Amino acid sequence: MTNFETNELRRNLVDICRRMNSSGINQGTAGNLSVRAGNGFLITPSSLPYDVMTPEDLVEMDFDGTYTGRRPSSEWRFHRDILKNRPDINVVLHCHSMYATTLACHHKTIPAFHYMVGVAGGTTVRCAEYATFGTQALSDHALKALDGRLACLLGQHGQISLGKDLEQALWLAIEVETLARMYVQVLTLGQPPILDDAEMERVIDQMKRMSYGLGPEAEGSNDVARPREPI
Ligand SMILES: [Zn+2]
Repeated sequence: MTNFETNELRRNLVDICRRMNSSGINQGTAGNLSVRAGNGFLITPSSLPYDVMTPEDLVEMDFDGTYTGRRPSSEWRFHRDILKNRPDINVVLHCHSMYATTLACHHKTIPAFHYMVGVAGGTTVRCAEYATFGTQALSDHALKALDGRLACLLGQHGQISLGKDLEQALWLAIEVETLARMYVQVLTLGQPPILDDAEMERVIDQMKRMSYGLGPEAEGSNDVARPREPI
């Protein structure tokens, strides 16, 4: 990775941190963010508010836990372990967004009460077991809850959302927060019906087609949207 590329990644990471704040999913210094870079990753430093953080403040870490620059976020272990174990993703975003954390405080898994739960890659958004922040135990629980998924809740703590890039991780974290908010609202009317696994399989399949623009639309579509021929 060239210096120019690393500097651009640093600027983008700071931009996403500021947007975590402006979107309302992050308060104070609770959240943290990392992105794969070179042989390791860049991660937000410990205890530095995003509105004063500069690209130079970001910490360069290796997978062995060594780093240069400021002290890394206290949650560097789960950032390191997720990036190490999930070659399919490049970004780890963590925050204590209000509604995701509300459900996490009750150790509730988000079921397929709405088809958009599929954006997290499966039929549920799991809630990881509780462990003290910053510990290896928390990292182990998070990794387990993220198995085959792109997001999870952390018991009595918050949420983690993953992405291939920074934009995707921010988008997903906001989606998870929206789903959590919806689910809390839905529960006020009682237990909702849950979409079955076969339907969620169709949903996830359809989502893959939509995001990657591959193949025909799912069976059951009456018509196929296609770009107009140029005149
Ligand atoms: Zn946290």
